[in-house]
Amino acid sequence: MPDQRLRPSFVNARPLALVLFGPPGSGKGTQSKLLMKEFGIPQISTGDMLRSHVRSGNALGAAVEAKMKAGVLVKDDVVNRLVEERLKQPDCERGFILDGYPRTRTQAEALCSLLIARGFDYVVVHLLVDYNVIIARLTGRRQCPVCGTLYNAISRPPKVPGVCDVEGAQLIVREDDREAVVRERLDAYQNQTRPLIEYFKEKGRSLFEIDASHDPPEAVFRKIEGLLQKQ
Ligand code: AMP
Repeated sequence: MPDQRLRPSFVNARPLALVLFGPPGSGKGTQSKLLMKEFGIPQISTGDMLRSHVRSGNALGAAVEAKMKAGVLVKDDVVNRLVEERLKQPDCERGFILDGYPRTRTQAEALCSLLIARGFDYVVVHLLVDYNVIIARLTGRRQCPVCGTLYNAISRPPKVPGVCDVEGAQLIVREDDREAVVRERLDAYQNQTRPLIEYFKEKGRSLFEIDASHDPPEAVFRKIEGLLQKQ
């Protein structure tokens, strides 16, 4: 019995990969979580996967930690392998949301080959956000070191300043949300990731642009949902 929350494109047609595309701070993580809840398909965030390797202190984590702290991209073959392994899990069979991947042309090519081999279709949703809004969002971001919940001094403050609503833990600034690192991450986006828009256009894929600068997350989510229903 198919999950009733799934739209037809995730059930009847070819399974669909949804690529959420946009600069750091454009709300990809927030939208992924809303979409995951609505459609019952997993969020695949390469940033989260890499952070969990860093936390566990394994060899892969040690190899990528310095790059992540500096706000530069880790090697393509590392993330490509992580994604390839993750997509083999049964929960990805009907579709999935990619958050923060692909970020380079090599990654996009690896992803396309994987999707073709496995009979997946994909759509790309590009979240557009003003540069100054991104800086304000990222530098105002605070995270619970225990449960990972993200807060924002302006748009999503905790009930008690500086304290996690869920865990009661003291919130921290993620190492890569410090201003100098934020600028590095935005440079990486501008130089290595943004040009992928041309790549997707060349491929003739469904590429949708959504203005996500000022609308609240629920309004952005409804726009994405509207696009997916037409697929
Ligand atoms: P994120 O949480 O998606 O902003 O990712 C945090 C950091 O993880 C990035 O600044 C990169 O250092 C690394 N990272 C995440 N995803 C990728 C990717 N697809 N390619 C290369 N590096 C990545």
